[in-house]
Amino acid sequence: MTTQLYSHEIHLQHITPPGHPERVDRLIAVAEALSAPEFDDLERKPSVRVDEKLLELVHPPEFINKIRSSMPSEGYVQFAPDTHISAKSWESVLFGVGAGLAAVDAVFGSQADNAFVAIRPPGHHAEIDTAMGFCLVNNIAIAARYAQEKHGIERVAIVDWDVHHGNGTQAIFYNNPDIMFASTHQMPLYPGSGYENETGVGNIHNVPLREDDDGLVFRDAFNSRILPAINDFSPELILVSAGFDAHYRDPLGGLQLVADDFDWATGKLMDMAARFCNNRLVSLLEGGYDLRGLGESTAAHVNRLMRG
Ligand SMILES: [Zn+2]
Repeated sequence: MTTQLYSHEIHLQHITPPGHPERVDRLIAVAEALSAPEFDDLERKPSVRVDEKLLELVHPPEFINKIRSSMPSEGYVQFAPDTHISAKSWESVLFGVGAGLAAVDAVFGSQADNAFVAIRPPGHHAEIDTAMGFCLVNNIAIAARYAQEKHGIERVAIVDWDVHHGNGTQAIFYNNPDIMFASTHQMPLYPGSGYENETGVGNIHNVPLREDDDGLVFRDAFNSRILPAINDFSPELILVSAGFDAHYRDPLGGLQLVADDFDWATGKLMDMAARFCNNRLVSLLEGGYDLRGLGESTAAHVNRLMRG
């Protein structure tokens, strides 16, 4: 497999208040984990600044303008509950979205089989015109719409294994039969959505897990629900909202996954990508707030992407 890694130092300049879990150190931990010799063959690519117009694939211009114009000249301000912005946050957003789109271009241009996009802020809680839960714009939703518009495909499957439900992604595509959204997440937990009876137009597949559920329950959710749904949908691209806060060490979640569970799930999604998508799979970092858990889990995920 040819695997690309996208990141950029601008993501270290999106500053949140002291003690905030979504912090600069997260990406440093990811970079350190991916600097081990086993990742020598990873193709490292700089993120690309996105043309702001492309954000309108998902978000209205008024919302985009509001975020951009709210950036402070120094320090940080609260833009939405739990969601802070600093002077360089808008640049970090634009490079983060751009990284996802560059990765999509790479898998459609056959420069890569798959890619991991290490960015912040995360995106899966951002709704069409609402920033929340550390997320400003919805990186993965924009990537999905871009793949349709730029590469002429119809069906995109988004799989979200972050411990929190990807309410934003679900809301954006709730009535869109061409985008499938499948999620495992802890319930009850922030943001409160993600019940099994939230099914959209048959394109939404929520598999809520309970506090203390472990890898066996997680794997069963994939085997019994997520993977059959992907199989029925036959996507042309698989996108992953790769949050690693379902790791047992994570302070924000109560699930008990270990790095090997992310390795396993990655392999299963790669099997689907091989069957339907000519291997095309792009994974975007979402949550993950214990630095050791995040590093170990990212390493397991990316190692699997490279190894096939
Ligand atoms: Zn999360």
